[in-house]
Amino acid sequence: MKKKLEGHKIAKVDPGSIGEELELEAGDYVLSINGNEIEDIFDYEYYINSASITMLVRKADGEEWELDIENDYEDLGLTFENGLMSEYRSCCNKCIFCFIDQMPPGMRETLYFKDDDSRLSFLQGNYITLTNMKEKDIDRIIRFKLSPINISVQTTNPELRCKMLNNRFAGRALKMIDRLYEAGTQMNGQVVLCKGVNDGEELMRTISDLTKYLPYMESVSVVPVGLSKYRDGLYPLEPFTKEDAGEVIDMIEDWQKKIYAEHGTHFIHASDEFYTLAERPLPEEERYDGYIQLENGVGMLRLLATEVEEELLSLSGDEEEGLVSIATGRLPYTYICKYAGWIREKFPGRTIQIYPIFNDFFGEMITVSGLLTGADIICQLKDKPLGEYLLLPINMFRSGEEVFLDDVTKEEVEKALQVKIRIVKSSGHDFVQAILHPELEVVEEEEPSMPGADYGYEGYELDEIWQEDDEL
Ligand code: SF4
Repeated sequence: MKKKLEGHKIAKVDPGSIGEELELEAGDYVLSINGNEIEDIFDYEYYINSASITMLVRKADGEEWELDIENDYEDLGLTFENGLMSEYRSCCNKCIFCFIDQMPPGMRETLYFKDDDSRLSFLQGNYITLTNMKEKDIDRIIRFKLSPINISVQTTNPELRCKMLNNRFAGRALKMIDRLYEAGTQMNGQVVLCKGVNDGEELMRTISDLTKYLPYMESVSVVPVGLSKYRDGLYPLEPFTKEDAGEVIDMIEDWQKKIYAEHGTHFIHASDEFYTLAERPLPEEERYDGYIQLENGVGMLRLLATEVEEELLSLSGDEEEGLVSIATGRLPYTYICKYAGWIREKFPGRTIQIYPIFNDFFGEMITVSGLLTGADIICQLKDKPLGEYLLLPINMFRSGEEVFLDDVTKEEVEKALQVKIRIVKSSGHDFVQAILHPELEVVEEEEPSMPGADYGYEGYELDEIWQEDDEL
């Protein structure tokens, strides 16, 4: 018996689109294209990228239409109910460093979802382990020429990778990198560094092995594991000390010199967190190779410095008076103070009060500002002089909303502290403007990444899946 196709429900048909001309409507289901079932959005995009297609549609009343469409490579103007046109793939690992396992109970459900979905790597830049992918998935990436793919490598030692990911197939999955390399697929890599596990000689081996994938592997970041205070029963991991961080940087900078001499790119990068921990100066701008690993906390502080300098050069100083406060994580604190100092040199009438917030919610070892909560901000600033405006980086807030990680809202913090909150976008321009003109808030939407604060990499993997809770 022929299997009944489930199809993908259309949520919206753009006015004036081919879809509207064909009398497609929200609620209709696309069942197949050219006789092929559609697995997900990549299949759909692949099949409609054609001069003509045959699409099977089930109308809301159950009637099936077979449409021969001359679309001449044009988009059909259809939006589907599920943006990915598929369930999200969750991971099949139990990594010793997983930040999701170190979260307190009671947070919103989406924060506990462990995604490991190659589609999200292409669509949102997520890092994936390759452990839940099959050869046919790799074939499809190669056939559709999808890239870049962002890979959580952790180590190139297969046995150690199995141990770190708690997955006996994790070592074998590394072979997929060879296939992607042979097909010329662009890749980026990431190593979440765990002290005494994949550092030292193991890191040396990993970097050496990964250089073989140049130029298709474009960059690799090394980030320290994030350790919250909720680690009971988990693998014993220790934080990196200042000396450890210095050693990691020394090794990486040696490799950068070697690789640059041979390939003209620095390739391997230590995250900002290693530099602040080691109390070392940040690398110069050229060494970030165009800030290819910003989302992993590599180069945010350097980029902010450059942008603040550029913004200040474009402004004429004045003597006007003003007072603003800034709350930030302990990691970027000294840099924020330094950059605020540059602003004060040109605008000496401005008073800028900067408060480093201790992360009581996750514990003292979490120092980025992107993981601070509304409750910690209220508690630590409640008796402090704040002036009329408190500046907070955008990545303290849920994407596109004014809600902190702990579901406390911006309004609640404003009310508790009797201050107006100005959200600062992730640019030096906005940082300077927010200090000089806190009353003029820019309202365009932006991704949640603020200098010195980050939570997109697996050291702090809190990428939320923006789907309906009930789909999880
Ligand atoms: S770190 Fe990522 S891959 Fe590992 S268990 Fe957590 S969510 Fe899964």
